[in-house]
Amino acid sequence: MKKIVVLGGGISGYGSAILAKKKGFDVLLSDAGHIAERFRARLDEWQVPYEEGGHSEERILQASEVIKSPGIPDTAPIVRRIRERGIPVISEMEFAGRYMGRARCICITGSNGKTTTTSLIYKIMRDAGMNVALGGNIGESFAYSVATGDYDWYVLELSSFQLDGMFRFRAHIGVLMNITPDHLDRYDHCFQNYVDAKMRITQNQTSRDWFVYSGDDEVIWRELPKYDLRVRQLPFAAKNAVASAAGDAFLLDGSFTAAVGDRSVEIDTSKLQIKGLHNAYNAMAAALATLAAGVDPESVRRSLYGFAPVEHRLEPVAERGGVLWINDSKATNVDSVYYALESMTRPVVWIAGGTDKGNDYTPLKEFARAKVHTLVCMGLDNEKLVREFTGVVPEVVSTSSLDEAMTAAKRAARSGDAVLLSPACASFDLFRNYENRGELFKAWVTEKA
Ligand code: ADP
Repeated sequence: MKKIVVLGGGISGYGSAILAKKKGFDVLLSDAGHIAERFRARLDEWQVPYEEGGHSEERILQASEVIKSPGIPDTAPIVRRIRERGIPVISEMEFAGRYMGRARCICITGSNGKTTTTSLIYKIMRDAGMNVALGGNIGESFAYSVATGDYDWYVLELSSFQLDGMFRFRAHIGVLMNITPDHLDRYDHCFQNYVDAKMRITQNQTSRDWFVYSGDDEVIWRELPKYDLRVRQLPFAAKNAVASAAGDAFLLDGSFTAAVGDRSVEIDTSKLQIKGLHNAYNAMAAALATLAAGVDPESVRRSLYGFAPVEHRLEPVAERGGVLWINDSKATNVDSVYYALESMTRPVVWIAGGTDKGNDYTPLKEFARAKVHTLVCMGLDNEKLVREFTGVVPEVVSTSSLDEAMTAAKRAARSGDAVLLSPACASFDLFRNYENRGELFKAWVTEKA
């Protein structure tokens, strides 16, 4: 019997292991750390053998294929050894994609906007009454949905790490939001490696498929000619003139028309509940993808207008004493903060900092100079942020806990201001993850602002 090893016991890992078990493979799930109680319960329920707190190397090296969870880097010693043996290492998507039958998938990737766009697309399709599952980085895993459900459509959010392990998988509708530097620590600090990973969204696409992408993104423009794409292209833009025979979307004076073939929808972005240029991009991408999937234009319009912001993404928390507190904890890289600052219409007290991922802060300086009067750095090591923004922003304060940062922000904020938590950094120095950071921010606002 073919032996499958699943590395990592998180959402992606246990879903893959259960699918492998269901398909009759001899499967072992192995996690070097601790597996959460609720995931162990699922594995027990499906009688999937697993180990935690270390890898039994000998057994693992007998696998005919290894499914690696996206959180495990290629530099992990066990992954190195598996590769040395020549054992193929694939991602959950590659594995589950083999068993999705006649179903079709919409796959969303990019450096920023994935979750928002994925959620938009999912909502539009659900509202339209389609039999659709959500997967990838949000909700249940794709593999688990394939194992336990029977869907016509899968809407999948894909990180570059998932794309790395995809070879024959093909997106019927691929969506690429943008490509800006992120996660360079996992790509040998080489931007092109990361770009190549993102561009894999188009691999294996045929002339019957669709590719939705940003026509304003210079990196994508530079890459496109390198690929011999046969897929039907659906660009969206607000700056560059784009046009494609298959369809496109363009934002002008606050409105856009998204057209696919002879069907189109017109959207007034001031009526959307999600604000800012970046969200107009997200809405254009979602409109194009769902029109391509066959959703009725009127239904697309209704769902777009009905969509509320996703938690931790420019989420207005409360207005206290004329100060608006905004939780953008999910902004863990420079580009997402760029759009957060871009969308600010009030003077800003900006809370940033955490674990720096090799950031270049230059793109933020223009908006920071124009809109931010106080930068509150919140992290164990604030030296780089302080250095970069001293002289750019009138006031720079260094703090090393949430409470200290919030107290400093409250002191600095005047009526009419916004306090924006938009860190540009990972959260792991002071918090469990970005959700935890956002929740503590909101709790502080509710109790003490
Ligand atoms: P992802 O899943 O790619 O991390 P999210 O939708 O969760 O994307 O948004 C992450 C952060 O990026 C948030 O701070 C959000 O405000 C910002 N953002 C959302 N959409 C875009 C976009 N199209 N371009 C740039 N930044 C964006």
